[in-house]
Amino acid sequence: MDYTEAKHRIEQLKAILWENSRKYYVENAPTMSDYEYDQLMHELEDWERRYPEYATEDSPTRRVGSDLEERTEGGFAKYPHKYPMLSLSNTYSIREVEEFSERASKSLDKPFTYCCELKFDGTAICLTYRDGKLFRALTRGDGEKGDDVTVNALQIASIPHTLKGSGFPLEFEIRGEVLMPYESFDRLNAQREAMEEPLFANPRNAASGSLKLQDPREVGRRGLICTLYHIPTGQVDFPTHDEALKAAESWGLPVSAHRKICKDIAEIEEFISHWDSARKQLPYATDGIVIKINQMDCQQELGYTAKSPRWAVAYKFKAEQACTPILSIDYQVGRTGAVTPVANLEPVLLSGTMVKRATLVNEDQIRALDIHEGDWVYVEKGGEIIPKITGVELSHRAPGALPPVFPHLCPDCGTPLVREEGEAKWFCPNAEGCPTQIKGRLEHFVSRKAMNILCGEATIEQLYGLSMVTLPSHFYTLQAHQLLRLEGWKDRAAARFLESVKASLNVPFERVLFALGIRFVGETTARDVARHFGSVDAIAKATKEQLLEVPEVGEVIAESIFRFFREEENLSEVQALKDAGLRMSVGESAARASNALEGKSIVISGNFSISRDDMKALIEAHGGKNSSSVSGKTDYLLAGTKPGPEKLKKAADLGISVIDEAAFRELIGEHTGGDAAPQNLEPTLF
Ligand code: NAD
Repeated sequence: MDYTEAKHRIEQLKAILWENSRKYYVENAPTMSDYEYDQLMHELEDWERRYPEYATEDSPTRRVGSDLEERTEGGFAKYPHKYPMLSLSNTYSIREVEEFSERASKSLDKPFTYCCELKFDGTAICLTYRDGKLFRALTRGDGEKGDDVTVNALQIASIPHTLKGSGFPLEFEIRGEVLMPYESFDRLNAQREAMEEPLFANPRNAASGSLKLQDPREVGRRGLICTLYHIPTGQVDFPTHDEALKAAESWGLPVSAHRKICKDIAEIEEFISHWDSARKQLPYATDGIVIKINQMDCQQELGYTAKSPRWAVAYKFKAEQACTPILSIDYQVGRTGAVTPVANLEPVLLSGTMVKRATLVNEDQIRALDIHEGDWVYVEKGGEIIPKITGVELSHRAPGALPPVFPHLCPDCGTPLVREEGEAKWFCPNAEGCPTQIKGRLEHFVSRKAMNILCGEATIEQLYGLSMVTLPSHFYTLQAHQLLRLEGWKDRAAARFLESVKASLNVPFERVLFALGIRFVGETTARDVARHFGSVDAIAKATKEQLLEVPEVGEVIAESIFRFFREEENLSEVQALKDAGLRMSVGESAARASNALEGKSIVISGNFSISRDDMKALIEAHGGKNSSSVSGKTDYLLAGTKPGPEKLKKAADLGISVIDEAAFRELIGEHTGGDAAPQNLEPTLF
């Protein structure tokens, strides 16, 4: 591997890890498994060790993943942490826990013990108490500053508003985890399923998403709990971490009793092996054991790396496994043309769900695992979305079984596959003609975080199958009479679909750029690039060097954007989208659909057939002004399902008109009828 290749792979890994870190911490909707993420992180660490000249300060190996909300308006206030909130170094091996202990013994010339605790699988929180009262609650954020979620923390029953007892400092910080117990998680997902809302994939995502809700009362209904496990050194004067926790407990703070002082590695191992099975009886999720040096002076002596304390290590439990045979292997083509092998398995129960398919990642992974046809394989699912195959049970291998043959032709369009240097995957290069890639791009374009057009997979299949939509710009040419001729379409479905197409004209440029589906350009990169250049024309003209000036855009992303805007087909599609009226520059004002709401101040409350953001955009598109609270100046309270009772009451007190969505649509000159069901409201996992 030469230097150019190393640099390329480092850039590529950084881009993938940044994007996935955002999906995990900000969106609470990871699309990669933790295992896969950890593997890539280890690969990056390894590269950076071998090529330190390419290790940058902003590398994900040196920074904690940020959960900071990115909204510029109406988001949470941000405050600095008094002491940085870091991560923990993780290991899955007892040997590495031993190494941790050996390192500590070498550095410390005095006796010490370990405090072993459960590693709670929720979202980190930092509480500040001032004069015995909860003063502020911050999320971990980017480690330096966090989102202020105090109003939400006050709704969590186990967080005391006022401390009891005596002896607490006038002001101090205490840290811990907000968790969603399994029972609350199941109840929440059942409710969401009934409301046809996306389901949370696991209690961690649910806890983290709930803590960032805008409505504190809803936070209160989510059944969150809190457990606290750390008072940063220097604030309280206790000789040990354990004594600090005991004091916190006496002040009424929720501290877990499931901890133990261990004097050596044998006791640590015993604690780990006890909890590896006992944790299954706990009412909330845990994903490991945290081993901390108990003596405060020793902690201070050992200090911190940029990302984690040197006085603690997390031993992560291995995800639950099942062993089952492979029935067949599918080779799936994604929207970028990447071909992913997916194993169809004999269904097997794993962590409460039936697993039928698992990813084999790529050809190298099939080789590394030494998979043969019909093999019995181990499957894992550690809170992640897609189960993973982690090994083969060789004793079950049939005599004469052969390794699967990776296809040389695209399973969809028959084009010979290519694998470029430095790429782990095979690709179908027929971007313009391969049906799966085209449909994948259309699905990406309409998705909620891109243009948010009400159009499910089945509709894309139908519109593409009839050659009515083969490019994203074709959505903007569709007419109601064309749709009504198609099987299964009724007036209402067509009207709702076309409405969402129209509403998408107001989607800000950064989301339009994301919707274009440029390889490696996720939501964050799209936002950064859009803001840096300001318009699609400026991006299209940018040189690679200019693209590299955008923070966090490395060679791989720059090359991908540069190449995208050098392809004739892409340029003409961008032009067609521009002509259709999509926003192609930052701050471009929304296309005015009418002046029906000119001068009207509207407050929205509850849920609608389109997202709340889209409803606000629709109000603006018709000349109205959105306002967040009901006052004498409000013209209408637009109430969807489950509107806020306080807003309704205030509107009634002030004599303000309350209208529902149907009345609102009449107001803006839309007339809907029929009863066709919306097409893409099936619950989806995130
Ligand atoms: P982590 O969750 O592995 O460990 C650190 C955290 O543990 C602390 O911040 C704290 O919140 C928590 N914790 C729980 N119990 C504790 C205790 N008793 N004492 C101290 N801390 C305790 O680290 P992280 O930085 O939050 O997350 C990194 C991990 O997240 C990665 O290893 C990866 O598995 C996962 N991740 C996954 C994706 C993805 O796409 N799937 C993306 C980003 C991160």
